[in-house]
Amino acid sequence: MRIGTGYDSHRLVEGRKLVIGGVDIPFEKGLLGHSDADVLCHAIIDAILGALGMGDIGTHFPDTDSKWKDASSIALLSRTVELVKKHGFEISWIDSTVIAERPKLQPHIEIMKKNISGAGIPSGAVNIKAKTNEGMGFIGRGEGIAAQAVCLIKSL
Ligand code: MG
Repeated sequence: MRIGTGYDSHRLVEGRKLVIGGVDIPFEKGLLGHSDADVLCHAIIDAILGALGMGDIGTHFPDTDSKWKDASSIALLSRTVELVKKHGFEISWIDSTVIAERPKLQPHIEIMKKNISGAGIPSGAVNIKAKTNEGMGFIGRGEGIAAQAVCLIKSL
């Protein structure tokens, strides 16, 4: 068995869609990034790559490559899950936390899980938690959203 951790954060700006866990969440701002800036998927991708010992999201999907411009992060996650299988592992468990002051994410968590299982991770193997930052720091001021994840993989 192997374990990996992932962390990501993105800036909240006007004129962008807010996509978290593949869900389009109605909000006055969205996350800024080269892809859809799906902070949860990015943290999970990094956790999986960490467990595989295969670098990070920037190595696999560089933001200098126009191929990944506005890319769906669920699609990037799906490619990452293929790497897991290719290297003789399977995902045992993913736990994750999204830290956002606003909007409320709890109503969207079940759909996020469905989207993530659509990328090849069994929905029974994913947990997603939503927290605020109690008004502190860049998250508390509504300047950005962060996510953390851990992933356990086992060899087949
Ligand atoms: Mg990111």
